[in-house]
This record gives sequence, structure tokens and C-alpha cells, in this order.
Amino acid sequence: MHTALVWFRRDLRCFDHAALSCALQRYERVYCAFVFDTAILDVLPDRRDRRVGFIWRSVVELDEALADLGLRAGRQGAGLIVRHGRADEEIPRLARQLGVHAVLANRDYEPAAIERDARVAQGLLQAGIAFGDFKDQVIFERDEVMTQGGTPFSVFTPYRNAWLKRLAAHGPGDWPVAPYAAQLAAKPADARLPALAELGFGGADRELLLPAGMAGGRALLADFAGRIARYKASRDFPAQKGVSYLSAHLRFGTVSVRELVRLALAGEGEGAQCWLNELVWREFYQMILWHHPRVVDAAFRPEYDRVQWEAAPQLLEAWKAGRTGYPIVDAGMRQLAHSGYMHNRLRMIVASFLCKDLGVDWRAGERHFADLLLDYDLAANNGGWQWAASTGCDAQPYFRIFNPVTQSQRFDPDGRFIRKYVPELATLPERHIHAPWLMDAGAQASAGVRIGHDYPAPLVDHAAARKRTLLRYGAVGGAVPRAGG
Ligand SMILES: Cc1cc2nc3c(=O)[nH]c(=O)nc-3n(C[C@H](O)[C@H](O)[C@H](O)COP(=O)(O)OP(=O)(O)OC[C@H]3O[C@@H](n4cnc5c(N)ncnc54)[C@H](O)[C@@H]3O)c2cc1C
Repeated sequence: MHTALVWFRRDLRCFDHAALSCALQRYERVYCAFVFDTAILDVLPDRRDRRVGFIWRSVVELDEALADLGLRAGRQGAGLIVRHGRADEEIPRLARQLGVHAVLANRDYEPAAIERDARVAQGLLQAGIAFGDFKDQVIFERDEVMTQGGTPFSVFTPYRNAWLKRLAAHGPGDWPVAPYAAQLAAKPADARLPALAELGFGGADRELLLPAGMAGGRALLADFAGRIARYKASRDFPAQKGVSYLSAHLRFGTVSVRELVRLALAGEGEGAQCWLNELVWREFYQMILWHHPRVVDAAFRPEYDRVQWEAAPQLLEAWKAGRTGYPIVDAGMRQLAHSGYMHNRLRMIVASFLCKDLGVDWRAGERHFADLLLDYDLAANNGGWQWAASTGCDAQPYFRIFNPVTQSQRFDPDGRFIRKYVPELATLPERHIHAPWLMDAGAQASAGVRIGHDYPAPLVDHAAARKRTLLRYGAVGGAVPRAGG
């Protein structure tokens, strides 16, 4: 009998799933497995890491959902075989134990994952077991969307136009699972799901504020479907419920990007179109990472690797702690610490502030986001940071520097978001909430807030910092980023 093992990674769902659908259609018996990979988990700095909790809950749900799918197709005992160890050892070992002919997985485009998969494929090959991978986490991958000259795009708009053209020709695709569920194999009797504490993680004080698993993704998607028409108008205001909050679900594959694209295509008006645009940004950065893996450590535009950043650990720590003295920056940083999420407008503001007001290397900020973001994704995070630092492809020009006060006035006009995350400023009137250091002693007394005591004075003066940044970038011959494909 021909048997296969489907190895789940960042695709924790059992609907519209390329590797699972293909395996069930091609093989007579299909096992499913997930590995809590110690090569990844052991280096996480925080044992209360929210992502591990999110994955663990999603894995528990996936196990039950696979069992249920099997039962409804008349197959007892299906589910997820869960291992805890190095994936490059566990997967070949499990495949040998089960005696499968092939291991199938959905492709991952991060350099470390590519290397891991190569090691797994090698280990399987030695046992005469095939390894097959599938496109699943994006609509178009690698070199499917290229310039007419056959080179990768480095500017977003022409990439998006080519992407949309290809979508119109091919559609988003669909990988059904349920019709083939009778092929699911019963998992071995000793397969037991380890508790979160057994993995060395957990902790009551790091609550998961986002619903996990396919059910969590479905609930957020249903909620957003009713708001998508207003997306364009509301997406930039962190105090409003304007965005989808689906990024962690996209990261871990508890939603399918194809169903999201179908939702956007079915939506009418600017809101749905604008949202589709964001899904294309996600693929743009995935494509950039695939073609230019050096961006992991280096500027996409090499001249910017010569920028002389400030060695200022105390500035970096104040930024991380949300104590810069700029309320909108501090509100964003505290949202991140509190929830593992930060609104996109705030990501842009705080990233710009770190690089262009504090003069700190964008890589330090990127690392901090990587440690804390529930939706942390190497391609999107690196792309976002290099955009903000003006070192990336199609980034904002270095001389266009966000003013944290005017950004605050524009995108949190009544200070509602600031008041939520910086409660020590909650009593300030609207006219002072964006730049509280401008209050005179009388205004401070009547608001009951002493700047420099209850809330920090600004770490830097924005106008002076702006001048320093122009010199810093100008010194390496910083030119206006190129236009064109
Ligand atoms: C400095 C910086 C760092 C970032 N780091 C990450 C990260 O680690 N992981 C991550 O998923 N996104 C990252 N982003 C992009 C963006 O901020 C988040 O995707 C978005 O805030 C997630 O919220 P949402 O799901 O409600 O987004 P929505 O506005 O509802 O967008 C829908 C989806 O589109 C994608 N998307 C939206 N904007 C972008 C973008 N600019 N680049 C790439 N994809 C996008 C995401 O998958 C998102 O879930 C970063 C942006 C910046 C400026």
C-alpha cells in the first residue's frame, strides 16, 4: 500500500491545504505530523513566548479536526502525530518508523527553513523515502511573477500589476481536503500530544489576546468580512477597528491565503482592493527574500551598510520600554509589549523613530520585533524595517522622515489610542496629548502630570535629530531610491 506523511509547519489547518490535498489524492494512507522543533524553540529568549502558546493551541485543534474529518469519512483514529525534538532528525525517524514512501510539506521560503528542509530531504533519501514540497503559503512564489526581462521586481507597483494580471489568468486556486479524508491513516496508539509545560513553555502572565487555531482565524475573518468595505478609510487609525488582525493566522497558516484573496475579490469598492494590495505586499517581500536572501543581515541597497549608526544602548532600551517621551511612539511600543501585536501605522512610526530620530541601526529594532511579534515573519519584518530605514527595495526616500508629532495628530487625532496605552497621560487635553513637553508648569499642574517625573521628557529633539539623520545618510552618498522595475 502506498503511504505518505504530511509534515505540517506554518500551515496549521486541514482545509484548502496543498500538501495534504495532494497526499490524500495520490496515496492510499496518509499520516499527519507536527514537530515542536527544538532548533527553533531552544533559542527563544522568553519561556513565555506567545507564539509557542498560539502554535500549541492550534496543534491541539488540528489534531481534533483531523480526527473528526477522518471519522466523518468512516476512518477511526486519525489525528496529528506530535514530536518534540530537532525536525531534521524527527521527521526522517518518524517516516522510517511508519514505513511511508514519501513525506510531503508546504514550501517555506526562509533561508534557515530551506536549509532544514534540505537536511530532511537528505535524511529521507538515505532511507529511500521521497520528499515533495508544494506552494501553499502564497498565491505566487519565487519566479512566478517577474519583469518582462525575466528579472525579479524591486519596485512594488509594477510587481503588483504583474501579480494581479497573473491572478486574473490563473485564479487563486483551491486545494480541497474533506472529499479525500477517507485516506487519512490512524495515528499510532502511543502518539501523545505533549503539554505546553512539557515543551518548557507557558506562564500565566503572558496571556494570548488573539484567538488561535482555525476557529480563531474563521472568527476574525467573519468579523472582518463585514468591515472590509471600510478598510481603506479606517486602516491607518490605530484606535479604530479598521484592519483584519489576521497576520498571525497568515503566519501560522490557520487561515488560507487563497480564501483571503477570494474574499477580497468578492468584495466591492476601494476597501477590498486596498486589502488585496496588502496581501500582495506580503508576497512582494517573500519574493524579495527568496531572490535576495542576503537582506536577512544586510541592507538591500548595499551603500546603506556604510551608515554610521549611534552606539546608544540606553536609547534602544528606552524605545523598547515605551519611554521615549513621544506619546505615539510609546503607545505603539507598549501595545507590542502588552499584546504581541502592533498596528501597521505604529510599526512605521516607531521604526522610523528608532532609525531616524534615535539614529539606531534598524537591525536592532528588527530583532526586537522578531522577539515579540506574534505575527513575526522574516520577510515582512525585514521588508518593513528596511522600508522605514530607507535601506530597502522601494523604500521611502531617506530624506522623507516621519515627524512623530504630526503623525500622532493625523492618525490618533483625539489621542484615544495614546490614552489607552500611556495611561499616565490620560488626563491631558487633546491639544497637549501629542507633545506633552510643550505644556507649561500651569498646564502640567492642572493635568496632574509632571513631565520628566510622571512621564519622560523627549529623548531627542526631532528637528535636531532630523538634521543629524540627513547628514548620516548623506555621508554614504544616500541618493533618492531608484524608480522602475
Ligand atoms: C517595521 C515593520 C515590521 C513589520 N513586521 C511584520 C511582521 O513581522 N509580520 C507581518 O505579518 N507583518 C509585518 N509588518 C507588516 C504589517 O504591519 C502587518 O502585516 C500588519 O500590521 C498586520 O496586521 P493585520 O493583519 O491587521 O493587517 P491588515 O491591514 O489587515 O493586512 C492584511 C494582511 O496583509 C499583510 N500585510 C499588510 N501590510 C503588510 C506589509 N506592509 N508588508 C507585508 N505584509 C503586509 C499581512 O499578512 C496582513 O495580515 C511590518 C511592518 C513594518 C512597518
